[in-house]
Amino acid sequence: MRHEKPPYATECYIGLGSNLDNPAARLDAALVALDTIPDTNLVRHSSYYRSKPLGPSGQPDYLNAAALLACSLPAPQLLRQLQDIENHQGRVRNGPRWGPRTLDLDILLYGNEIIDEPELVVPHPQIKYRNFVLMPLLELAPGLDLPGLGRAAEWLARVGTAGITKL
Ligand code: ATP
Ligand code: CA
Ligand code: CA
Repeated sequence: MRHEKPPYATECYIGLGSNLDNPAARLDAALVALDTIPDTNLVRHSSYYRSKPLGPSGQPDYLNAAALLACSLPAPQLLRQLQDIENHQGRVRNGPRWGPRTLDLDILLYGNEIIDEPELVVPHPQIKYRNFVLMPLLELAPGLDLPGLGRAAEWLARVGTAGITKL
């Protein structure tokens, strides 16, 4: 039976990060992979940003970016697809929290939905504290509202832009 694509898609913002194994190539490959997720199209993506790592010291700087997808998969299925892409790019899950990684793909926003499940919290709970997430998001959507949290630009004004370079 032919698979019918659902008639509508949700605007989903994805956060990308990498600080191992040629991060620019990792992000390039991730953007290609995002566009191959079933029932999902890559609409546009931000520039790449170099940022100082969170978590354990001594790790390389990160490259971060954001992507806008038009996605008609339910959010938990989208998360599984993102984890598959991470695994294909050599993500190892036995390191410390916020340790170095080849690729991290987070669901930042899933339309206007607010999700609070054990495995999935959307908007991503750290968005408002992270300039390396807010800057690429605002590049994609300068007037963006974070559901339940207010304007992304106001959060960036609070957090500031220290430690970030747009490439
Ligand atoms: P952080 O979430 O602080 O950015 P992280 O990205 O390093 O940390 P991971 O180890 O990649 O964390 O993911 C841990 C778990 O977070 C995943 O198993 C996933 O179930 C859960 N998770 C909850 N909400 C989200 C979300 N919005 N996007 C991606 N993963 C999420
Ligand atoms: Ca993350
Ligand atoms: Ca993650």
